[in-house]
Amino acid sequence: MSVVELADVTYAYDGRPAVEDVSLTVESGDFLGLVGPNGSGKTTLLELLTGLLRPDAGTVTLFGEPAHRFSDGTRVGYVAQETTGTAGGMPLTVREVVTMGRYPHAGLGRLGRDDHESIDEALETVGIAHLASRRISTLSGGQRQRVFIARALAADADLLALDEPTVGVDAESREAFYELLRELNESGLTIVLVEHDIGVVTAFASTVACLNRRLYFHGDALEFTESDALRAAYGANQRLLEHRHH
Ligand code: ADP
Repeated sequence: MSVVELADVTYAYDGRPAVEDVSLTVESGDFLGLVGPNGSGKTTLLELLTGLLRPDAGTVTLFGEPAHRFSDGTRVGYVAQETTGTAGGMPLTVREVVTMGRYPHAGLGRLGRDDHESIDEALETVGIAHLASRRISTLSGGQRQRVFIARALAADADLLALDEPTVGVDAESREAFYELLRELNESGLTIVLVEHDIGVVTAFASTVACLNRRLYFHGDALEFTESDALRAAYGANQRLLEHRHH
């Protein structure tokens, strides 16, 4: 079953296309790594495929329906880039943030025992149960990203979308973070990960989409490194890319 289908999708800012004519399908159980040079439209594409942005042309179908219907944040968990200020500034505890994931399920009523169990389980799964009563402003970047994943799990999200989640996270925690994503994917969660580090994507993702405004490659992660798409999409940035990987 496909989770997301993009057909001939174009999106422009002030008349300048950031994403052009992209067709792409994400199947249930995929772990898709979305790569491309800086400014190649990765964030824009992630926002399109989660229904946060509506395309200027083409269609985005999420769970068989127009994508913008899912902006209520239950079936799609969106983990934004770790930017200073926003999340860190919220005077909330870890448990409070994860609890937000449950409210759409509880409706107007109070949270029930099932909801609290679901919150506890989400905290356990991402390995932050011991941090439940900490304010999120006191956490490291990597821990904070886990909180947002737990919120998505508490919401029973079917798709987890992450935008360069480990920018500013130290190397050791990064590895553990991607291991967590792999485990979540192995237990059935569909994941789309925007990531500038191609080494991470080929090590952890099962499929790769390579973007530079247009889609240059979509297929098996192992085939990607051997394809010409990398060179074609990165063009003059290729040297920088090789430098980064050796
Ligand atoms: P990436 O995530 O690959 O770095 P983005 O999707 O953020 O790429 O951006 C793609 C292009 O669209 C870039 O040229 C960027 O400058 C432009 N862009 C992104 N967001 C906006 C915006 N809100 N307004 C105008 N231009 C934007």
